[in-house]
Amino acid sequence: MEKLSNPQKTIETIKKYQFNFQKKFGQNFLIDEHVIQKIINGAQVTKDDFVLEIGPGIGTMTQYLAEAAREVAAVEIDKKLIPILGETLSEYDNVTIINEDILKVDIGALALERNAGKPIKVVANLPYYITTPIIMGLFESHVPIDNITVMVQKEVADRMKVGPGSKDYGALSLAVQYYAKPYLVANVPANCFIPRPNVDSAVIRLTRHESPAVEVEDETLMFNMIRASFNQRRKTLQNGLKNSGLFPVSKEEIIEVIKEAGLPETVRGEALTLEQFARLSNLMNKKINNNKKK
Ligand code: SAM
Repeated sequence: MEKLSNPQKTIETIKKYQFNFQKKFGQNFLIDEHVIQKIINGAQVTKDDFVLEIGPGIGTMTQYLAEAAREVAAVEIDKKLIPILGETLSEYDNVTIINEDILKVDIGALALERNAGKPIKVVANLPYYITTPIIMGLFESHVPIDNITVMVQKEVADRMKVGPGSKDYGALSLAVQYYAKPYLVANVPANCFIPRPNVDSAVIRLTRHESPAVEVEDETLMFNMIRASFNQRRKTLQNGLKNSGLFPVSKEEIIEVIKEAGLPETVRGEALTLEQFARLSNLMNKKINNNKKK
């Protein structure tokens, strides 16, 4: 069968099923074989792998994944695409389609059942409206994952990989880098999709660390401190932490924590590395626990 990466085949399939693109589902289908090959190579998919694909669309990338991997499970929310996938993937006996919202799927159970609990690979041309919840959900749920290789908005890929000193640095950079090592696989122009998205895209691979990049006593506390610091980007770290009202300590105690971490009182959150946020949150944790004992 002619592959869907041939734009004519995609157009023909869409017409045959009278499929209407749904903006609310972020539907932009790939029509460039070269880009798909880059994604598969970037994800380092082998015949040993179980791959979870999020949002297969009409199955364009799924056809290549089925050939490269041992097994593929593809989760698609739009029920109108299910009969199309039945036809476009009919030649492959190692693909399962799950008609569900990815945010509601128990991926841990899927990995256990299909891959004996061994790390899986996640590959996707993501629906951009839920990029962050999907990626953070995968990391925070502690599903065994080898790597996540995904097409995202170029701007989001930039945010994931930068450090302090860049305007793109923020809570997403720190959250991603806590769990994984980011690597930019490719930049992808809008004309590689049908319909064309309004933004530039990029493929990023996030290789999961065996254990998080830094040691923290209370992850939630650290991420609350990170969010509080970046919520008020122009403010100093001490004002950001104080104004959030999230931490049961006095203003003086916040200053003590900042100084104990070896930082200047006037420092801004955007200047801090992940290691510095970890140290800061461990000191804050100690302070909060001491206050509880008083
Ligand atoms: N993989 C296809 C390709 O590259 O041509 C389609 C990619 S398109 C950018 C995103 C896909 O994700 C669409 O098929 C859309 O219906 C699906 N989708 C959107 N929201 C979803 C969700 N919450 N759960 C699962 N799939 C979703």
